[in-house]
Amino acid sequence: MSARILDGNKIRDEILKDLQKEIQEMKQAGVVPGLAAVLVGDNPASQIYVRSKVKTCESLGLFSEKIEPPTASTTQDLLDLVDSLNNRDEIDGILIQLPLPPQVDSKKVLEAVDPAKDVDGFHPVNIGYLVSGRPGPVPCTPAGVIEIIKRSGVEMKGARAVVVGRSDIVGKPTAMLLMHNHATVTICHSRTRDLPGVAREGDILVAAMGKAAYVTGNFIKPGAVVIDVGQNVLKTEEEVRRVFHDPTQALQKLAAKGQVLVGDVQPEDALEKAGAYTPVPGGVGPLTITMLMVNTVQAAKARRGVRGAAA
Ligand code: NDP
Repeated sequence: MSARILDGNKIRDEILKDLQKEIQEMKQAGVVPGLAAVLVGDNPASQIYVRSKVKTCESLGLFSEKIEPPTASTTQDLLDLVDSLNNRDEIDGILIQLPLPPQVDSKKVLEAVDPAKDVDGFHPVNIGYLVSGRPGPVPCTPAGVIEIIKRSGVEMKGARAVVVGRSDIVGKPTAMLLMHNHATVTICHSRTRDLPGVAREGDILVAAMGKAAYVTGNFIKPGAVVIDVGQNVLKTEEEVRRVFHDPTQALQKLAAKGQVLVGDVQPEDALEKAGAYTPVPGGVGPLTITMLMVNTVQAAKARRGVRGAAA
């Protein structure tokens, strides 16, 4: 068997095309959705993430502002900044790029964001909305997982879904969304007994654990839909050889780029055993920023009273 590839880049393009239409309509009504991205410190990965978020805003014609407070900022400095962003009408979404420096109380800062502008969906008020199935911003990566499943024509209703990982930003919200879509959901974590056996019960298997290629063939029910959220960077030949059964292509990539991105699922096993599979890269990854854009547009609609909020 060779799994159907669920192409995240294609699904991203579909969503952005629809979103672009909505943005045009909003502009005609005099509303330009705006996103403020707050980046503290010089974490290289955070810099890349924020740059691509701002770039995506620009390409869609959204207003965006990158704010870079000094690395030595205190909790109070950031609370003051959040307060000023909460009060600016042209800012619909506030994104606090994590991690914040160690001297900052991240929870306090995130909780200070106006829930109506919380486009990451991390605020406890919005988590409450998510749990109770009420409308509100949904964390971007889990929202992307559901978009991939829906737009690929995979039936969630009645399916057995297994989510490996119980983090607040990926595992838990993904499980909640699958349940709201009428799947029967099992959440696994590091203390789960017989993880391969439990994972094999999944018609839909979501891997979000942060362990390169940990989910191997014996975790996968033949024909299952496997969604790989993991993003792990391999930097040495030894790591590449450990992960891939046939490392030829990955070694070429390593030589050319100095690193190889791999998910939490062993890709060759997934291709052989799954019915459908999101590759890494090119699966879930492209959806995360896309759903941030969707959340920003929805926040603008909800807050500024534009009719016809997005689905
Ligand atoms: P966390 O480290 O916060 O959570 C990992 C979860 O996996 C924990 O619940 C942990 O269990 C569980 N876990 C770890 N090891 C095992 C194991 N051996 N067996 C069973 N469960 C295990 O990670 P995140 O949720 O933030 O991210 C998960 C992955 O998704 C990462 O690879 C990350 O890079 C990727 N990611 C990708 C994004 C994208 O845009 N595609 C966005 C965000 C994340 P326990 O709770 O018991 O410790």
